[in-house]
Order: sequence, then structure tokens, then C-alpha cells
Amino acid sequence: MDERMSVTLDETRCVGSGDCALVAPSAFQVDEDEGLARVLPGAAHIGRAQLERAARDCPTGAIQLSGDS
Ligand code: SF4
Repeated sequence: MDERMSVTLDETRCVGSGDCALVAPSAFQVDEDEGLARVLPGAAHIGRAQLERAARDCPTGAIQLSGDS
């Protein structure tokens, strides 16, 4: 079953650590100039477990997931 999740990123919390991009490079990319991560269009197509791990590994809790479970 294809389970789509909505990914949002709170830029006020992001510190640009890059953990999310290491865990899920198809879903997140760090803008080095701004020092902030961006959610990529590919985020909608990768597995829930990978997104959950990225959210869990974010040191500031900047990544929120929502969607059907
Ligand atoms: S892991 Fe969290 S703080 Fe680090 S770049 Fe990603 S969203 Fe920002």
C-alpha cells in the first residue's frame, strides 16, 4: 500500500545540521547559503520509515509528518 505523508519543516527551528538530508537525501536538502533545510518534491514518494527516521534524528524537532497511517 502506498502511504503518502505530508512533510513540513519549521524554518524557525531548523539549524541546518543536515541530519535530515543524510537520512533522506531524496526528501531534504540543506541550502548552504541560508543554513536551512528544504523539503524536496521527492519527499512525497519515499517510505514512511525513512521520513520518520529523519524527523526523529532532527536535533531540533523541526520536521513534522502527517498523513494516513
Ligand atoms: S535535521 Fe532538522 S535542524 Fe538539521 S537541517 Fe534537517 S530540519 Fe534542519
